[in-house]
Amino acid sequence: MDFDCAIIGGGPAGLTAATYLGRFRRRVLVVDAGDSRAKAIPRTRNYPGFADGISGRDLLALLGEQAGQYGAEIVTGNVTDLARDGGGFSLSLDGHQLGAARVLLASGLKDKSPDMPGLRDAVAQAAVRYCPICDAYEATDKRIAVYGPLAQTEGKARFMRTYSRDVTLLPLEPAGEDAKQALAQAGIALTPPPVDLRAREDGIEAALPGGDTLRFDVLYPVLGCIVRSDLAAALGARRNAVGCLEVNDKQRTSVEGLYAAGDVVSDLHQLSVAAGHAGIAATAIHNSLPANFR
Ligand SMILES: Cc1cc2nc3c(=O)[nH]c(=O)nc-3n(C[C@H](O)[C@H](O)[C@H](O)COP(=O)(O)OP(=O)(O)OC[C@H]3O[C@@H](n4cnc5c(N)ncnc54)[C@H](O)[C@@H]3O)c2cc1C
Repeated sequence: MDFDCAIIGGGPAGLTAATYLGRFRRRVLVVDAGDSRAKAIPRTRNYPGFADGISGRDLLALLGEQAGQYGAEIVTGNVTDLARDGGGFSLSLDGHQLGAARVLLASGLKDKSPDMPGLRDAVAQAAVRYCPICDAYEATDKRIAVYGPLAQTEGKARFMRTYSRDVTLLPLEPAGEDAKQALAQAGIALTPPPVDLRAREDGIEAALPGGDTLRFDVLYPVLGCIVRSDLAAALGARRNAVGCLEVNDKQRTSVEGLYAAGDVVSDLHQLSVAAGHAGIAATAIHNSLPANFR
């Protein structure tokens, strides 16, 4: 085997696991396609240890530097196929084959986004946000909109009422009477489905049928995500209805030798959760490998 462990994904989960495995004196490869969700974080303020916050890109750079200090090899590329190979695995990496005794899948997910001009800049300016648990605090007393199918969006809108009296639900479909009443009782404004959303310099504009427009400081889309678990599923790993991988208390999937960490596992999509998974997975991987005594 070329490596004791191949880590697919170089986001916070993969890089943290690489640091642990490097410090366990294991031969580690991290393959990263470069699309970490953390890159979109303008400044996280709930990650432990950074009282003044840190941008996602700076955090990734620090995590990569730390893993590199302990010998982890980090390459840019896309793992397109994962297969069993004896007791281990073989990976196809942009046309090359590699062998690894264990694999950690830390491939994350992709958010589904509204089709909206100016989206990328709006995310960078924190006018469009995906994770209320991460950053609702920073939306305190702002004009907040939550956009998506009613069934998924109502709970998020209620959550946002902890932070602001000015919360509006922009539904994808017209609301029934029960939903209208429940939202009114919670102090949440409700509109008809908007016909257009766009980023403006000072926030987000929603156009309603009939020509009215509304302005918001922050928009939270609730449109779901695509979990990048297909490589594991192709080996028979079990996953839930959303596509997240099922793991045991050591982060091992239902496939022997295949572990998973971070957003590809959890529905609590957090940097701290990714780091916690990574520590557990890396330690279990080390303990599952033949001893590497000096
Ligand atoms: C706008 C925004 C703000 C956020 N703010 C916060 C915050 O303030 N606090 C917080 O705790 N969390 C925040 N999050 C969530 C946080 O970014 C994620 O929970 C975290 O990045 C998950 O880490 P991960 O390593 O599991 O996945 P990711 O960071 O998404 O990394 C996965 C990596 O795997 C790579 N990959 C996937 N498939 C392959 C493959 N086949 N081959 C090679 N590489 C592959 C991807 O390209 C990617 O680089 C935010 C997310 C967003 C989008």
